[in-house]
Amino acid sequence: MYLQQRSKREDQSLSAHINHNPNAKHWDFFVFKGLCLYEPQIVVKSQRLYFHLLIFTISLQQFSFLIKQTYMCGIVGYIGHRDAYPIIIKGLKRLEYRGYDSAGIMLFNDTNIVVKTKGKVSDLEQIAASHDNKGKTLGMGHTRWATHGIPSDLNSHPHLSNSGKIAIVHNGIIENYASLKKMLSDNGFHFTSDTDTEVLVNLIEFIKTSQNLKVGKAVQIALTQVVGAYAIAVIDADRPGEVVVAKLGSPLAIGIGKDEYFIASDASPFIEYTKRTIYL
Ligand code: GLU
Repeated sequence: MYLQQRSKREDQSLSAHINHNPNAKHWDFFVFKGLCLYEPQIVVKSQRLYFHLLIFTISLQQFSFLIKQTYMCGIVGYIGHRDAYPIIIKGLKRLEYRGYDSAGIMLFNDTNIVVKTKGKVSDLEQIAASHDNKGKTLGMGHTRWATHGIPSDLNSHPHLSNSGKIAIVHNGIIENYASLKKMLSDNGFHFTSDTDTEVLVNLIEFIKTSQNLKVGKAVQIALTQVVGAYAIAVIDADRPGEVVVAKLGSPLAIGIGKDEYFIASDASPFIEYTKRTIYL
């Protein structure tokens, strides 16, 4: 098993430089790397004293963005010796509190099953019941809170790369997805969803195939080209014994069992299987 942990670096979405101009008598609006701050400056003048009151207020839009990164959407993954399906479905239900509009699951052994739908995890469960879920010991599930593309079956995760070999679940936002999408289109890639996530999985595939790399290295390189926030889990059919995970800004926890690993947005999906948890 290969767990690719991206080294922590300062969360770009939270880094901002604010230059305070004491002479400003209006609302200044700063946009820096996705962080919007309003600076209402009120200068109160009295006979002797100047009171400068500075208030920074995170804009409503940015506030909801931050909340989304931290609390919404969910990832659950499993690799080991148990049936992955019940672990993932139960785990997704435990993450429902985070809020979502669609759900999906991918199970892998010799063949892969991808089931995804707009709606609840219980809807996903009903559709998945018609598939043979038994004996699949590798898989990942997702609850989506749409940021790029409407809530729909097609936009739900997991997303597959053009070859169908690489699958991804992603929480977060790829801010520079449009330029990456254009570069990939210019290189012959096509897209079936409106999501930023499908761009990322194809970027990974492009790097993997054009540089003849293993998927773990391709993920690492792809993430150096990405601006945004993410927690991702990636499975490549060429390396069925691996799940590659990475995060920046969005939460991701790894549960370590005996010859098995759990992946989740928080520890609740695997709490009864292991107490050994790494928060990336
Ligand atoms: N940006 C991705 C999408 O719109 C992921 C959203 C999420 O965090 O669930 O599909």
